[in-house]
Amino acid sequence: MPTVTPMLEIAEMVAELGGGSLQVCMQCGTCTAVCPWNLVAENNPRMMLRQISLGLEGYESEDVWRCVTCNLCVARCPRGVEIIDVIRSTRGVMIDSGSVPATYKGPLASLHGEGNPWQGDRAERRVVAEELGLEELHDGHQYHYFTCCSQTYDPRNRRVARALASLLGVAGVSFGVRSDDQVCCGDQARKVGAEELFLELREINTRLLGSPEVSKVLTVSPHCLNVIKHDCAEEHLGVVVEHYTQVLDHALKEGRLPLRARVHKRVTYHDPCYLGRHNGVYDAPRNLLDAIDGLTRVEMRHSRESSLCCGGGGGGLWADVPIEKRFAVMRVREALSVDAEVIATACPHCISMLEDAVKVLDLEERITVSDVAELLAESMELTP
Ligand code: SF4
Ligand code: SF4
Repeated sequence: MPTVTPMLEIAEMVAELGGGSLQVCMQCGTCTAVCPWNLVAENNPRMMLRQISLGLEGYESEDVWRCVTCNLCVARCPRGVEIIDVIRSTRGVMIDSGSVPATYKGPLASLHGEGNPWQGDRAERRVVAEELGLEELHDGHQYHYFTCCSQTYDPRNRRVARALASLLGVAGVSFGVRSDDQVCCGDQARKVGAEELFLELREINTRLLGSPEVSKVLTVSPHCLNVIKHDCAEEHLGVVVEHYTQVLDHALKEGRLPLRARVHKRVTYHDPCYLGRHNGVYDAPRNLLDAIDGLTRVEMRHSRESSLCCGGGGGGLWADVPIEKRFAVMRVREALSVDAEVIATACPHCISMLEDAVKVLDLEERITVSDVAELLAESMELTP
């Protein structure tokens, strides 16, 4: 990858693009100490921030593309530096200068052309929604179900969508989708610095979300949740957005989830960064797992606020990372160290990254990856 052209104005450009808190950094190094990249390679966000603020020559573009926006450094920074904003703004400057990792080009072009990063046909959303029996939204629905692109274009995550639709039906939650109009939430695009593309996608989605029919939004992906909550400003849109684990946890507490079958499995829960650290949802998925009769839940060393990222955020899903440097590989090993048979999670990107890690480690006979919705469906004897 080429070295970035030195730009003395880079700090101003980054600030203009949204990385304005850069100047309050006191160079304490906490961000570097906690960054999970240091478990597998050297990564120094402190140094990167210093170099960006001074506009110095010589920082390598690899440094800036590595961040998976796990939010651990932001959560621990004593000065409240929005490190992810600085990084994505710096990436924006690099994209404008024509420097973007080769593996990101296909997904970004697909987002431009088809409104999804999977290089899938736009019309496929309607086909899959019909296949899954998802109704189109009307004003009698309680929730606007904002579907994730992965559920349309990735057969593995489509299984989660199927399980979730059944669960919501049994729990008496009514919902509808906008399969002809919806596009990707754009979270990955934004985090890799493609701000204009993100704004195009956001404009389309906010028009849909701002429609008067339904004031509650349900997401399956924590990334969609995060965008609607923070980047689209849910209160400005006049909607309330919830992750599906929150909706089901509520149903559980009201006795609307009839869990019947025992599920004799030793399960560990992997906190998706965008559900946990970015949005503070730690208990709802755990409550749901704990309600399943026969299931034994164990915690990994890195959990809740200290959870280890799967490596899929901030463009990580599109990156080409050597096996030994994949966070998901470390995470699978960590799950094995507590003798888990199943890694449960609640994010389509985590499902993809962790399942891929299980495959490359050739551990499919030893450990599986399930969405919380799939385990609940199993305990409710719902056939996918
Ligand atoms: S933790 Fe915050 S203040 Fe400390 S070096 Fe990192 S960004 Fe700067
Ligand atoms: S967001 Fe996570 S991966 Fe990115 S610099 Fe901070 S700690 Fe490292």
